[in-house]
Amino acid sequence: MIETRQLSKRYGEFTAVDAITFKVEPGQVLGFLGPNGAGKSTTMKMIAGFLGPSSGSASVCGHDVVDDALAAKRVTGYLPEGAPSYGEMTTRAFLNFIAEARGIRGARRAQRVEEVIERLHLHNVLEQSIETLSKGFKRRVGLAQAIVHDPAVLILDEPTDGLDPNQKFEVRNLINAMAKDKTIVVSTHILEEVQAVCTRAVIIARGKILADATPAELEARSRYHQAVSLTTTNLAGAKDVLARVADVAAVEYDTITRRLTAIPKPGRQIFAPISELLQAQGIAVSELQLESGRMDEVFRTITHGDLGEDLAEEARA
Ligand code: ADP
Repeated sequence: MIETRQLSKRYGEFTAVDAITFKVEPGQVLGFLGPNGAGKSTTMKMIAGFLGPSSGSASVCGHDVVDDALAAKRVTGYLPEGAPSYGEMTTRAFLNFIAEARGIRGARRAQRVEEVIERLHLHNVLEQSIETLSKGFKRRVGLAQAIVHDPAVLILDEPTDGLDPNQKFEVRNLINAMAKDKTIVVSTHILEEVQAVCTRAVIIARGKILADATPAELEARSRYHQAVSLTTTNLAGAKDVLARVADVAAVEYDTITRRLTAIPKPGRQIFAPISELLQAQGIAVSELQLESGRMDEVFRTITHGDLGEDLAEEARA
């Protein structure tokens, strides 16, 4: 559905996107993950046809975004970062305008606009000017304009950025619902989002792809994959138990959460022996959990602690 080949963008001497090659198959939700300044927006703008590549190519549904730009845009819906729109227009006028610009006319236009109003629950804000809407509703209007022509492919640039937790949850649900009949690329720097909506994640930093895997595969790279965490009032007793389990490689204690974590030797299972020994020793635990892995640690390791341009600048200052 989407294919990029050695896709690159240079601004003068600076290479923002550096020979990125990937494919997105039908039905996938690809998470584009990376620190600020990694090149996510630039890549998405090129796929959406809003920015010409310096070299390399990209295609959507087999249409090259440069040579066959109109056909590529017809099958693509794009939500730019921050969901820009025309603030003085009402929601209804804006959606009609976008539908018209997309070449949808007459009864079909009325039907499509009605469908997106329904899908994004916009009934109560139709006559309100967009600049007076809450951020959550503005984002919904942004999503509505992106799907009004019923595209096969959706490119969503930081769709939950700046929203409160409830609004984030709602937008993620909307993305999951749209994933049933669309191929989606969604950029984010929020790790939990990858687990919440993506079937696959591409991690980029400084314009290059550093990992391309499913969220579960990424978690499996964590040193906390298959680790066992527990909380107990008998800390000394629990530490003693963990020290006696042969396949435990290391034990960590988090002074803030007051959790003990046992990390297994590679490929080893330690949950059963730990829980059996705790029981045998009569050590009560209020929580005993098998961890799937910690995305934040994997992300830091893969991006080599790349802080992103804003934080890196602060660190230098
Ligand atoms: P992300 O979306 O991952 O935060 P961007 O794609 O927005 O990253 O930016 C990648 C890099 O390219 C950043 O260093 C950014 O400052 C730079 N950049 C983006 N747009 C321009 C531009 N129009 N001119 C010069 N540099 C730019």
